[in-house]
Amino acid sequence: MKNYEKSELKKIFAPASGDMSAEDFRRVGYEMIDWIADYFQNIEQFPVLSQVEPNWLKDNLPKSAPAEGEDFQEILSDVDKLILPAVTHWNHPNFHGLFSTSTSAAGIFGELLSAAFDMKAMLWRTAPASTELEEVVTDWLRQMMNLDAGFRGIIYDTASVSTLHAIAAAREGLDLKIRETGMSGRSDLPLLRVYTSEQSHSSVEKAVLLLGLGQKGLRKIECDAQFRMRADRLREAIEEDKQNGYIPFCVVATVGTTSTASIDPVDQYVAVCEENAMWLHVDAAYAGSAAIVPELQTYLKGCERADSVVTNPHKWMFTPFDLSVLYCRHTDLLKRAFALVPEYLKTNETVTNQMDYGIQLGRRFRSLKLWFVIRYFGQNGLIERIREHCRLAQLLASWIEESDDWELTAPVNFALVCFRACPKGVENLDELNEKLMNNINASGEAYLSHTKLNGKFTLRLSIGNIRVEERHIEKIWNLLNEKL
Ligand SMILES: *Cc1c(COP(=O)(O)O)cnc(C)c1O
Repeated sequence: MKNYEKSELKKIFAPASGDMSAEDFRRVGYEMIDWIADYFQNIEQFPVLSQVEPNWLKDNLPKSAPAEGEDFQEILSDVDKLILPAVTHWNHPNFHGLFSTSTSAAGIFGELLSAAFDMKAMLWRTAPASTELEEVVTDWLRQMMNLDAGFRGIIYDTASVSTLHAIAAAREGLDLKIRETGMSGRSDLPLLRVYTSEQSHSSVEKAVLLLGLGQKGLRKIECDAQFRMRADRLREAIEEDKQNGYIPFCVVATVGTTSTASIDPVDQYVAVCEENAMWLHVDAAYAGSAAIVPELQTYLKGCERADSVVTNPHKWMFTPFDLSVLYCRHTDLLKRAFALVPEYLKTNETVTNQMDYGIQLGRRFRSLKLWFVIRYFGQNGLIERIREHCRLAQLLASWIEESDDWELTAPVNFALVCFRACPKGVENLDELNEKLMNNINASGEAYLSHTKLNGKFTLRLSIGNIRVEERHIEKIWNLLNEKL
């Protein structure tokens, strides 16, 4: 791999005024693209998890900023010496922990160009390209996911923020004058409640905290043996809360939970939500991408009756972090919750002003990278890649099932495998599996993470890297069996 340290380039210092010259920009740019190309070509030579100790990087960096500008070559050589060792390589095909996510060349070029434009979409006028491309590209994705035209897409940074906005819009829809008078100090306001499963993502609880609803404002519903929120328990909880005078106003279902990728039966929650005029939000941050694969669309059943759905192209659609899309049927409520226009931003144009739909004023030009990704791969190219990841997950699952030393601990949905070692004669399987995971992670060969299911320590292996091939799955399978 090309090393900045050995770079032959002449020194590159900032001029006395203004920015880097066009000539230097080209030079550094070509060099840097070469560096990135080498990085991807050699990605498997790096340890997946950074091997540095905490504070290693901080201890190796100056405590204050340089007074005079430095040679850009020096800065780049520090990338090799200091930054690279402290990188955990999410792009490594054997990164199977959490969710395996990776970027793509097209996505990187989108980021680069969006950094160059540096536009802030507030008013349409401040960023017509960002405002309109976002509408177009989220509508493309909506169609790819087979969601109906009643949904409008809005791009936020993360699913956590998308879900926060969905719940805020749901609350605004209650017409309880919370926008005007807030919630504190009000004796006329009973407890407002959101419902989600025991398996849902922590971002749901965080959203509830941030909206001032408190942990008491969230009720977690029991799951069935396959980690899906039970519709009967949900209905009972809502009925009970109504009898206590509470106001149930939102259900957050998950298609593709974080622990096991389990799939809540969204269609079974529709009736109770409609009877009680509750908002139904679906967290499909991970599995939303799979909905572009025709034979997987059935897992989104019920979403056609939901009020909002979130999907993260930065998770499983080869788009660099960050890019989350919230599909919402009631963007008028989002606007009612968030629009606040100071004098200096008032205009007479009847256009979409993106600042009206969220907490941020300025927004990054995120749609550009997704537009690049979708156009470069095409719908079919994306479908094939996601389908292949699901095939690899089933293949690994079949090896696990055939072996006496291993067992699946949850149904294999999408491209996530939950399993554990269970060799005969070993008493403490939790300890065994935890050690195994730590050994593999410390080796730098691969990265696995864990969860607990019914109190049992379980390994999680996610497959979603754009470079992953069958040989990588063979490698991790061999590694698991060698270290056992
Ligand atoms: C990853 C994930 C999230 C959080 O995603 P961010 O974009 O990092 O906020 C939320 N829900 C589910 C189901 C996820 O898998």
